[in-house]
Amino acid sequence: MSDAHTGRTTPGHTDGATPAPHAGPAEHAGHGFETVAIHAGNTPDPTTGAVVPPIYQVSTYKQDGVGGLRGGYEYSRSGNPTRAAVEENLAALEGGRRALAFASGLAAEDCLLRTLLSPGDHVVIPNDAYGGTFRLFAKVVSRWGVAWSVADTGDPAAVRAAITPHTKAVWVETPSNPLLGISDIAALAGVAHAAGVKLVVDNTFASPYLQQPLALGADVVVHSTTKYMGGHSDVVGGALVVVDDAFGDELAFHQNAMGAVAGPFDSWLVLRGTKTLGVRMDRHSENATRIAEMLSSHPRVTEVLYPGLPDHPGHEIAAKQMKAFGGMVSFRVDGGEQAAVEVCDRARIFTLGESLGGVESLIEHPGRMTHASAAGSALEVPGDLVRLSVGIESADDLIADVKQALG
Ligand code: PLP
Repeated sequence: MSDAHTGRTTPGHTDGATPAPHAGPAEHAGHGFETVAIHAGNTPDPTTGAVVPPIYQVSTYKQDGVGGLRGGYEYSRSGNPTRAAVEENLAALEGGRRALAFASGLAAEDCLLRTLLSPGDHVVIPNDAYGGTFRLFAKVVSRWGVAWSVADTGDPAAVRAAITPHTKAVWVETPSNPLLGISDIAALAGVAHAAGVKLVVDNTFASPYLQQPLALGADVVVHSTTKYMGGHSDVVGGALVVVDDAFGDELAFHQNAMGAVAGPFDSWLVLRGTKTLGVRMDRHSENATRIAEMLSSHPRVTEVLYPGLPDHPGHEIAAKQMKAFGGMVSFRVDGGEQAAVEVCDRARIFTLGESLGGVESLIEHPGRMTHASAAGSALEVPGDLVRLSVGIESADDLIADVKQALG
């Protein structure tokens, strides 16, 4: 099915597996990241000339006779032009050949796991990850007869040791949520591929502006587009990006068969968000660096977790594989869990709330909030930990707010 509007084909409603070749890296070759961010998938509308692609808020498409698809689209679970636009954009930004946009990051993860795994298979998961990702393995995937084990993904030898003859994937978050651990993507790709398994990298914390896992050898990039890709705390979404066309087709089949697709408006919000990803990530990184430096010498802070600090154990690897160190900073407070909770409660410009990656700064207590589902597991987080999503407000105001919250 050819799409006259975009020159693409889309997965069909009936078979759900028709490949959708996107404008691949070749089309954007030679262009800088910000140029790609603004133009990939953002072709002016051929009907009106609108420079921003419209929100195709539609479920179905008129057929010219049975099977006569004008634009290649037949039903919006299978394919929608606004979703196709953001998928083209995301594929180009990650240097992949195929991206798929989902209703949430966890929907993307679920689709990936159900595409990759069968009963009896095994996955290596990180010892620090988003609590919801851990819950998906521990409470959902395990019920299908899929085994998982936890490894320190910061140590490639530990990952190698955790791989069994049944392992199908190694799953990595770098930087990790919420401890900001760093894993060497290129080294882990070597370990995974030597064992014949796929390397999955959750690139949510870094974004493709700061880190390009596919170029470093990863097979799949996972995103919660809710975060930096959307960038404005106004959308929940997810994405998978791959380099292998056949694997992309398999994922597209499962996406259509299971149905947790990104809606047109949510797709449009992410497409708008990525246009400013570069400038936002630069500012997030600058502000976070200043806050991490301030925290490092604060008497009430016992440890600062930020890969940009020279004493962070992953600093050198982060400097090698990231353009800057991102907007997430965690720290431990003298006085234990209650003291950490009180710091969260006292913040004023930092809003107390879950999520991250928006222009506005957020503060949270991972142990009681985003990572409560990891309590009692190998991924449990310390009670005295506070996590900051450093926004792009004036740095001086943010620093003053964290200082007053520390008391
Ligand atoms: N991956 C990471 C690193 C996250 O922080 C999150 C959510 O916080 C997810 C995945 C899940 O994404 P979503 O909340 O969009 O389902």
